[in-house]
Amino acid sequence: MDKRKARPGYHKKWREKVKKRYWGRVAAGLCAKCGKTPPDPNRRECASCNARARARERARKKTRKAQGLCVDCGRPSAPGFATCAPCRENKRHYDAKRSGHAVYPATYTVYLRDSDDPLGRFETREDVALFLAFGRLDRDAVEVITDAPPILAYTGCN
Ligand SMILES: [Zn+2]
Ligand SMILES: [Zn+2]
Repeated sequence: MDKRKARPGYHKKWREKVKKRYWGRVAAGLCAKCGKTPPDPNRRECASCNARARARERARKKTRKAQGLCVDCGRPSAPGFATCAPCRENKRHYDAKRSGHAVYPATYTVYLRDSDDPLGRFETREDVALFLAFGRLDRDAVEVITDAPPILAYTGCN
């Protein structure tokens, strides 16, 4: 980031060079990455470059997981999760879209124990936790009913 700020012209030139080389290889029917072998069908990189990229991705995910970071974006993830809340949310939408189902946001309804009147309805565990904190409510004094899938309903709000 700092390098880019310090030498914007240099970075731009370098990027243009890379871009030109990339498309030159694609036009020549060669792997855009190594320029040595023809790419895989429907791809721009060859089999060995693809395999290398996958291996690098796997290694990155492993390191992030070991550090307690989201394997997808590198932001801190909640304990017990491999990904952060925004990435899980994205994936949920993506999966729902792919499987052709409409996306209904999960709801978390907070009831006072032994009461049928809901205190509030929320879309995330974080919101429930905030609500409880603001209302100085004990997690044990309330009941949280959710229709979120089990992985999202993971009880981390107390
Ligand atoms: Zn290649
Ligand atoms: Zn993430």
